[in-house]
Amino acid sequence: MSVLSKPYFHDEAEAFRHLESVLWPEGPVCPHCGSVSGKHYDLRKTRLGLRKCSDCRKQFTVKVGTVFESAHIPLNKMLQAVYLMTSSKKGISAHQLHRVLEVQYKTAWFLAHRIREAMRDGSMSPLGGNGGTVEVDETYIGRAEGTEVGPGTYHKNAVLALIERGGSVRSFHVDGAKVSEVAPIVRANLAREAKMMTDESSIYTKLGKEFAMHQTVNHADKEYVRRTNVRQLPKGEPMVVTTNTIEGYFSIFKRGMKGVYQHCSEKHLHRYLAEFDFRYNQRIALGVDDKNRAGKALLGISGKRLKYKGPDSLPA
Ligand SMILES: [Zn+2]
Repeated sequence: MSVLSKPYFHDEAEAFRHLESVLWPEGPVCPHCGSVSGKHYDLRKTRLGLRKCSDCRKQFTVKVGTVFESAHIPLNKMLQAVYLMTSSKKGISAHQLHRVLEVQYKTAWFLAHRIREAMRDGSMSPLGGNGGTVEVDETYIGRAEGTEVGPGTYHKNAVLALIERGGSVRSFHVDGAKVSEVAPIVRANLAREAKMMTDESSIYTKLGKEFAMHQTVNHADKEYVRRTNVRQLPKGEPMVVTTNTIEGYFSIFKRGMKGVYQHCSEKHLHRYLAEFDFRYNQRIALGVDDKNRAGKALLGISGKRLKYKGPDSLPA
């Protein structure tokens, strides 16, 4: 017996039952008119998962309105893919999904993007409320489209991330590490009462004054951790100034992108970021195990339908 021997990973009718139990804890909900009447017709003998609304008379299944809606793969295989993607720390490539699930590569690639979409965090409350400590930093990855590889970082894709110590991360694909790109994102995602930690980069100098505290480490001088006493904290409780938490997160992201996702086109970078953010935010240290993590990804599948737009949406 293994986790993957669960019936809903192997039997499509069981897979429908499982997804229904996650998305419809109170019984079937009509996606057309929102009716939650217990009198919806059960047409599951006609077609897998099929229901008919007792109010608007339209038919539906639990897949309607979710990222799974127009995917032509048995639902049990899609649930396997959700489990595999949410349980491996660095992710799983479309090639590996294609081999494990025995579906076409193109199908696997698109399915992975559907699941990434389900992992996108819609939460809007700013990080660092209640005076939490939030590290903010940028990194560079891959090569931006239409550029040549050269010295420096101008040809790479810039990623900005904010991470609350002991809490969540949020990452963004930005058009370069400059104030005009970084400031609006930081203002929208960081609470005013937050303690902000960055490196010495000048893009944070003015911005930092908008928050309760801004401390910097000077990486140019090889300074990575500094303990300091600040008046906002009780006497004798030094503040640890560092961006090591976020550096650690970037290193998982980069190892994953290098080892697993070799070709990531620029327009999909935000989805890969959502995937890595999701796994970090639903991590063991916060009490989320592999099974719960897969369940949380399933809860994110509604209302985010991703349409297949032809071969242009495939990676190079
Ligand atoms: Zn209805």
